[in-house]
Amino acid sequence: MNEERFDAIIVGGGLAGSTAAYVLAREGLEVLLIERGNYAGSKNMTGGRLYAHSLEKIIPNFAAEAPVERRVVRERISMMTQNDAITMDYHSPRLAETGSDSYVVLRGKFDRWLFDKAEEAGAIATAGIKADQLIVENNRVTGVICGGEEMKADVVILADGANSLLAEKAGLRKRVQPSQVAVGVKETYGLPAKVIEDRFGLSSDEGAAWLFAGSPSNGLVGGGFLYTNKESLSLGLVLGLQHIGESSKTIEDMMVDFANHAEIAPFIKDGKLLERSGHIVPEAGLSMVSTLYGDGFLICGDAAGFCLNIGYMVRGMDLAITSGELAAKTVLEAKEKGDFSSASLQSYKRMLDQSFILKDLSVYKNFPAFMENPRIFKQYPAMLSNIMADLFVIDGTPAVPLRKKAMKHLKAVGLMNLAKDGLKGVKSV
Ligand SMILES: Cc1cc2nc3c(=O)[nH]c(=O)nc-3n(C[C@H](O)[C@H](O)[C@H](O)COP(=O)(O)OP(=O)(O)OC[C@H]3O[C@@H](n4cnc5c(N)ncnc54)[C@H](O)[C@@H]3O)c2cc1C
Repeated sequence: MNEERFDAIIVGGGLAGSTAAYVLAREGLEVLLIERGNYAGSKNMTGGRLYAHSLEKIIPNFAAEAPVERRVVRERISMMTQNDAITMDYHSPRLAETGSDSYVVLRGKFDRWLFDKAEEAGAIATAGIKADQLIVENNRVTGVICGGEEMKADVVILADGANSLLAEKAGLRKRVQPSQVAVGVKETYGLPAKVIEDRFGLSSDEGAAWLFAGSPSNGLVGGGFLYTNKESLSLGLVLGLQHIGESSKTIEDMMVDFANHAEIAPFIKDGKLLERSGHIVPEAGLSMVSTLYGDGFLICGDAAGFCLNIGYMVRGMDLAITSGELAAKTVLEAKEKGDFSSASLQSYKRMLDQSFILKDLSVYKNFPAFMENPRIFKQYPAMLSNIMADLFVIDGTPAVPLRKKAMKHLKAVGLMNLAKDGLKGVKSV
C-alpha cells in the first residue's frame, strides 16, 4: 500500500467539510479534502435557505461571488387541509439586512463553489473518491483508506453527512435511528425569472421561503416547503422517517397531491420538472448530538447531528459551516501544541458550547418531542380552516355569535388538549 501524510484529512466536501478545509488551507496547513460524489454537491440537497451569518464571518461579502439564487425577503407559513390554506405572509427589508440576510441555494452549484474555494486556498480537494474506512491504531484515528490506498494525517475531520458511516463503522458513533431522522424529497421546476417574480410579488434577485404544515405530510410529523431559485422553484416535503410505513399514502403520492393543491398549483404552473432528489435530515436536535471528538478525530455538520428543525424553519447549513470552522480552529490550536489527543481536541466542545450551535440546539431541545404530537398535523389545521370558513363563508343562514362558532371547533379538538399543547409548544421554543 502507498502512504501519503497530511496535517488534516477531511472526509466530505459538503458545507462543513469544505469550510473546514478552506479555513485550514488558508492558514497554510497541508489538507486533503475527499468527496465521494463526482463533484461537490452532486450528492447533496437542501430545501433550501442558507442563513448567511456563518459564512459571512469566514468569507465577507461571499454572496457577491457565490452562486446564490435569491435573497429571501418574503416568508410565508401556511396551514393546509386537503382543500384549504391559511397563510401568514411576512415581507420585510429587515430580512435582507447584512448580518440577518439569507439566500436560497442549490447545492449542486453552491457546494462546488465552496469546494473550489478550499482548493484555491491550497487544499488538495478531490472529488469522485470515497473514504472506505478509518485507520485506527492504538485507539487513535490516524487516517483513511480510499480504494485500498492508505492516507495518513495528524487529524481526520469527519464531515460526511447525516449517516456518517465511517464513524459508525469504527465504533465512534452509534447508528442513526429512524426516530432521529426525516426523509426529505424535492422537485425542482424550471420557470422564467420574471414569471417567478410576478407570481411571488418579488423584484429581481429577491426570493421567498414558504413552509407548509397539515395535509402535505398526510398527518405525519413533517411538512412541505417551496423556495424560489433564480429560474426554478424547489418544492418538497420533509417527513419523519419513523412512521412513514404507517402512512396511508406513498411519499410519491404525497408529492403529487402537494403539487396539485389549489394553493400550490398556480405557482408551479407550466414549470418544467428539472430534477427530483431525496436526502435524510437529522432532526432530533440536541438528543442526537453524540461523539464530537476523540484521539485524532473531530466530527462536524450533519455527521455530528447539528441540524435544527423547528417547524417554521430548517437550519443545518449555517450549523454545518460554523462547526466546520470551529473544527478547523481546534486543529490549528492542536497543531500549535503538537497534540492531537482527545484531551487537546476537547477545546472543540468548548468552542461549540460558546457558539450559537449548542446554544440554539439547547434552547430548542424539547421541540422534536413536541412535534411528535399528531394533532399538530391533523386536527389543528382542520380546526383553523373550519374557523376561517365560519368567519368568511356567508351563505344566508342567520348569524351565530363568533365565540359560539369558534367554541364548537375548539371543543372538537378538546379544550384540555389545546391548553396542554399550547403550553408544551410555548415551553419548547
Ligand atoms: C429536504 C431538506 C431540506 C433542508 N432544508 C434546509 C434549509 O432550508 N436550510 C438549512 O440550513 N438546512 C436545510 N437542510 C439541512 C442541510 O441541508 C444540512 O444540514 C447540510 O447539508 C449539512 O451539511 P454537511 O456538510 O454537514 O453534510 P452534507 O451536505 O450531507 O455533506 C456531506 C458530504 O460528505 C460526502 N461523503 C459522505 N460519505 C463520504 C465518504 N465516505 N467519502 C467521501 N465523501 C463522503 C457526501 O457526498 C457529501 O458531499 C435541509 C435538508 C434536507 C434534506
